[in-house]
Amino acid sequence: NIPRPQMEQLFPRDVFIAVKTTKKFHRPRLDLLLDTWISRNKEMTFIFTDGEDEVVKRHTGNVINTNCSAAHSRQALSCKMAVEYDKFIESGRKWFCHVDDDNYVNVPTLVKLLSSYPHTQDVYIGKPSLDRPIQATERISENKMRPVHFWFATGGAGFCISRGLALKMSPWASGGHFMNTAEKIRLPDDCTIGYIIESVLGVRLIRSNLFHSHLENLQQVPKSELHKQVTLSYGMFENKRNSIHMKGAFSVEADPSRFRSIHCLLYPDTPWCPRNVVY
Ligand code: UDP
Ligand code: MN
Repeated sequence: NIPRPQMEQLFPRDVFIAVKTTKKFHRPRLDLLLDTWISRNKEMTFIFTDGEDEVVKRHTGNVINTNCSAAHSRQALSCKMAVEYDKFIESGRKWFCHVDDDNYVNVPTLVKLLSSYPHTQDVYIGKPSLDRPIQATERISENKMRPVHFWFATGGAGFCISRGLALKMSPWASGGHFMNTAEKIRLPDDCTIGYIIESVLGVRLIRSNLFHSHLENLQQVPKSELHKQVTLSYGMFENKRNSIHMKGAFSVEADPSRFRSIHCLLYPDTPWCPRNVVY
């Protein structure tokens, strides 16, 4: 476990965190994020949604209405990822990170991780969603197909891409190209990202165990290691409720996602965190 050298200092203006959401999740999911990790990192965080909302706009100016359909279709989700990519390129920032609206981002730890890699090189980092490469067929022409296999980082755990790599992705990802690429392999948005990076550009995914989705058993993340994790999540896994297991500031009933308790553990000076709690 040799520490990587600190390559360069990063400032909030260097990192672009895209949060994917949809209008129906603004109250049940996004408000929780705005109260917790986003509240401390407004300069870095951009909300990508599909409907107007004055409540969200009161919290942050970084709200982008993608005008994508609010359906959970492959096309609608690819449409949002395409807008995230274009806005990142336009921003001029050094790092692009994508997360879902059921992710808690431990931003100082994320920034520390990114600062150990050069943003001008090809960096794609996240958690592989399968234990083997995904097998797909690439449509080359009207009636010509070709089998491809590649690794991809699961969108539900969050992933990051350096600017150097993002610029190389442009012919397959910018403007309307992302939607066309997604249709060529007919897979979800996060797979399409992996396809462009691994299969088209030949760059390898850097695996990190510090990114977490609710498709893994979150009870296995020990409370003593929470501050080292980059992303956390909550939701359903194998038909059971899945969340970080910790006795914290709030009960499971009051804080089923555990995000408020995690936030109070990381930032005990938060006004709404109860005082006199031994964490
Ligand atoms: N989502 C979306 N449009 C939809 C449904 C979901 O943009 O119609 C977003 C949602 O806000 C979240 C991501 O897609 O950021 C994944 O959704 P969810 O967590 O419900 O599904 P799962 O994790 O099971 O894929
Ligand atoms: Mn989810």
